[in-house]
Amino acid sequence: MTELANILRRQIEVTGPITLADYMSACLLHPKYGYYTTQDALGVDGDFTTAPEISQMFGELIGLCVAQAWMDQGAPDRFALVELGPGRGTLIADILRATVQVPGFHMAAKLHLVEASDRMRTLQAAALPAHHPTWHDTVDSLPEDMPVYVIANEFFDALPIRQFQRDPKGWREVVVGLGEDGTLQRGLSDAAPIDALNSRLDDTAPGALVETCAHGTAVVDAIARRIVQNGGMALIVDYGGWHSDGDTFQAVRGHRPVDPFAEPGRADLTAHVDFEALARAALIAGCAASQFTNQGVFLERLGITPRAQSLAKGLTGDALDAHVAAHRRLTHPDEMGSLFRVLGLYPVTESPPPGLDP
Ligand code: SAH
Repeated sequence: MTELANILRRQIEVTGPITLADYMSACLLHPKYGYYTTQDALGVDGDFTTAPEISQMFGELIGLCVAQAWMDQGAPDRFALVELGPGRGTLIADILRATVQVPGFHMAAKLHLVEASDRMRTLQAAALPAHHPTWHDTVDSLPEDMPVYVIANEFFDALPIRQFQRDPKGWREVVVGLGEDGTLQRGLSDAAPIDALNSRLDDTAPGALVETCAHGTAVVDAIARRIVQNGGMALIVDYGGWHSDGDTFQAVRGHRPVDPFAEPGRADLTAHVDFEALARAALIAGCAASQFTNQGVFLERLGITPRAQSLAKGLTGDALDAHVAAHRRLTHPDEMGSLFRVLGLYPVTESPPPGLDP
């Protein structure tokens, strides 16, 4: 049993079962025993690999997309270049390298990173030796006096969700309580009507499970309000669907699925992103949202194939094989190409970022 399991058990003994969102928050970000505060999450030796860790091409193309969007909006001479949840800093480092030749871009960019984990901040600082980012615990302290160009890759899937199971008498919330043997276990609260889920009564039947992520919609609201006020855009890349449908809560350790309640703090916990909910939050804030687009299509439109061919010219043997495999992994529909999706947010008076349709 982990230290964190003991802490949560004592808490549940006192307060009763906790929501899945409280459980996820503690497991991922507990200051002493949380996953992101203690583990080497990312990369071949970690628990999962993200697109920028697979190939430099991902960050390069995103960088050029951001730079083009910045030029399309008149190249403002001061803007916040923001990444949410930068992990090891690989993506933002690739974005900065790819945009070094774009006249005026680096001069105008103020780097802001939203990162909850001090351990991750240290890795990010090491990946950006020539830059001086400002770190934020949350999006709430991001600048409000300049355009914001925001990138979020595999950030929203790490935000805490709640789960509700439909019942003839309303909804039963999935909670984390204690089994007879004192171990952490999934349970269900008593049924109650929940106004916020009324819109799901038409497309679900009793027994159906839906997920909500209030944290995610609050993040989008904060970003969208800044885009409406001062311009800029956001690119949200993640796995998920257009509509929350069913149980997508999962734990991964050492690149393998594990029981999410067995060793709290030792495994990565995620859920699929409900892009419709994020797009709706942006529209309510007065911002435009692009078509929901597969990552493979998005990267092809940005020119990943010519870029892959040009990088391949300098490679032979195993390095060439790895490069070809990375291109396929990022774009092929059987790999990340259609599992991962992209949503762009932008001012209603502007065009969507390159690679995305209005
Ligand atoms: N974008 C990176 C890493 C994704 S992993 C990549 O593509 O490789 C998720 C990142 O989000 C980690 O850096 C983690 O510490 C951070 N994170 C998770 N939950 C967070 C939260 N609630 N607030 C801020 N950062 C968070």
